[in-house]
Amino acid sequence: MAAGSATARPVQAAFRVFPVQVERAVRLTPQMARITFTGPTLSGFRTGNRDQRGKILFPAPGLTEPLLPEGAAESGWYAAWRTMPPETRPILRTYTFRAQRTDPDEVDIDFALHGDGGPAGRWAAAARPGDRVLLVGPAREDAGGVNFQPPPGTESVVLAGDETALPAMTSIAEGLPPGLPVQIFAEVAGPAEEQPLPATAQVTWVHRGHSPSPLLDAVRGAALPDAAPYFWLAGEASAIKELRRHLVRERGVDRGSVCFQGYWRRGLTEDQDDSTAPPSPSDPVDD
Ligand SMILES: Cc1cc2nc3c(=O)[nH]c(=O)nc-3n(C[C@H](O)[C@H](O)[C@H](O)COP(=O)(O)OP(=O)(O)OC[C@H]3O[C@@H](n4cnc5c(N)ncnc54)[C@H](O)[C@@H]3O)c2cc1C
Repeated sequence: MAAGSATARPVQAAFRVFPVQVERAVRLTPQMARITFTGPTLSGFRTGNRDQRGKILFPAPGLTEPLLPEGAAESGWYAAWRTMPPETRPILRTYTFRAQRTDPDEVDIDFALHGDGGPAGRWAAAARPGDRVLLVGPAREDAGGVNFQPPPGTESVVLAGDETALPAMTSIAEGLPPGLPVQIFAEVAGPAEEQPLPATAQVTWVHRGHSPSPLLDAVRGAALPDAAPYFWLAGEASAIKELRRHLVRERGVDRGSVCFQGYWRRGLTEDQDDSTAPPSPSDPVDD
């Protein structure tokens, strides 16, 4: 936004802290949990849909709820969170807001139960009604945190990712204009992890176990659309990097037409991985 613009809108409070509790926890598949959250402030929550991301603050080990210093939710939670002692500082992770409903106000988040001992995955596997977390989410539909931004003139969409990207890919496909061709490559552990995806999408399920780079192999062997395609890729960081390189270097895709993000990195927690963790200019952490 140009300095001094009379129409400039304040970005303050585009993202807010929403204290919520678990309303329901269901298994979509053996390794994917859908947790539905409710809370009195969720009436102010406004997802931008698509791959709308935000943060979840989970209770520190040994605590039953995530604590922030008094007033921190209003005055800049991230700065306050950073200065908290490790014993009480809530665990911070990035997730996709899969869906929002009103009347009653509810937000769904789908968690991959990856079994690698991460606190978010563990929390989701054990979540029960009444369990509390803090969501840091959008208070306006244009708050930011949405990467899927196909340019005007896009005539087809290709989405590729692992199970951490399934919530975003499903949401993106659901929101596309009717008639826009969409192709999805979804990597999961095996057939039991396949989920219903929008019928309008041409879906390739990719099962792990046969190759070190199953998603790359699947895309490499596939015909891709000729008509002004826009690519969106997300999942394990090195797999996504390889996939992008294949598209740009081997398939001649214009790099500007490829939106990509590492959602996690093998062997590193989100706190240790600079490519997925805040702070970053595009991450809505300090509103
Ligand atoms: C923008 C964005 C949106 C995201 N949306 C979602 C979403 O909607 N649903 C979702 O499930 N995840 C999503 N993720 C990924 C999620 O944030 C990470 O998987 C996160 O690391 C999980 O935290 P954790 O505490 O369970 O594990 P961490 O403590 O971060 O990591 C512990 C160990 O587990 C490994 N690990 C982490 N994730 C996985 C995995 N999926 N499979 C195998 N090993 C793993 C790490 O490499 C590490 O060795 C998203 C990430 C980003 C950046």
